[in-house]
Amino acid sequence: MKPRDRLRIAMQKSGRLTEPAQELLARCGLKFRQSRDKLFCFGEGEPVDLLLVRDDDIPGLIAEGVCDLGIVGRNVLREFQLTADSSVPRIEELRPLGFGGCRLSVAMPQEDAYTDPSQLGGLRIATSYPGLLGEWLRENGVEAKVVMLAGSVEIAPRLGTADAICDLVSSGATLNANQLREVAVVMESQAVLAGPATLPTDERGDLAELMLRRLDGVIQVRDSRLVMMQAPRDALDAITRLLPGMPRPTLTQVDGEPGQVVLQALCAGAVSWRQLEEMKKAGARDMLVLPVEKMLA
Ligand code: ATP
Ligand code: ZN
Repeated sequence: MKPRDRLRIAMQKSGRLTEPAQELLARCGLKFRQSRDKLFCFGEGEPVDLLLVRDDDIPGLIAEGVCDLGIVGRNVLREFQLTADSSVPRIEELRPLGFGGCRLSVAMPQEDAYTDPSQLGGLRIATSYPGLLGEWLRENGVEAKVVMLAGSVEIAPRLGTADAICDLVSSGATLNANQLREVAVVMESQAVLAGPATLPTDERGDLAELMLRRLDGVIQVRDSRLVMMQAPRDALDAITRLLPGMPRPTLTQVDGEPGQVVLQALCAGAVSWRQLEEMKKAGARDMLVLPVEKMLA
């Protein structure tokens, strides 16, 4: 294979992860020109290109070296790790990305009783995640028959091809519509950045490091707020305790008012009206809460 000097990131072509992944990359300062076949997007600023594929193919493409990094559900990545041949290079979760949240759960017909995993013994459980389900069953000492289905897992109990299912759930609406009830969580999932256990040592490695640094900056500030206010110096302790994450504020003296300071603090999380009102009661005034766009330590 010809060595590449551009970094290539795989992401889902069309599905739940597509839009948030595009938005995340845009926040990292990456711009792309889409090609006709809509499979490949050429990066315009940085030498970073995109490959748009089915999510299930992403770990394999990284393992084969076709792509350097990928944005994929932890569920897909973990399933790949559990089921890939041992000769295949290891692909790791490099960063959780904070979107695409869901869980892989076992669900049963609503009328069936369930109190603990042992009740699944001897049942047929339909899933697209035989690796993850198999591991969970082993950990819980349950012997059940895993029925592999590529899609439409939720209708298997009604069709009589399985007694229970193990599938992705977020709101539970799909389960409800199929008269199923979530009974046990096998794993919590979200979108992650996946990559090889050791990054390449050439230019692509440097680009991957750059991407990780930018991602960290974006993820760190996504929920952060910059809070500014004026407050009496002796109320600082009370006010700081009300700020999410209890940050260490920067203080500026107010001219001609020795007892007053201007406080500026980077908070790890949203600041509610209630918290602001409490701070006002403690003596704060002229409060401002601002979203943070970028951060580089
Ligand atoms: P593809 O055509 O790429 O194979 P898909 O149908 O497998 O698409 P989606 O349904 O778009 O994929 O789901 C992609 C990922 O979104 C899942 O692997 C999972 O990590 C995440 N996800 C979040 N919530 C849900 C949900 N309620 N159901 C399924 N996946 C979810
Ligand atoms: Zn898929």
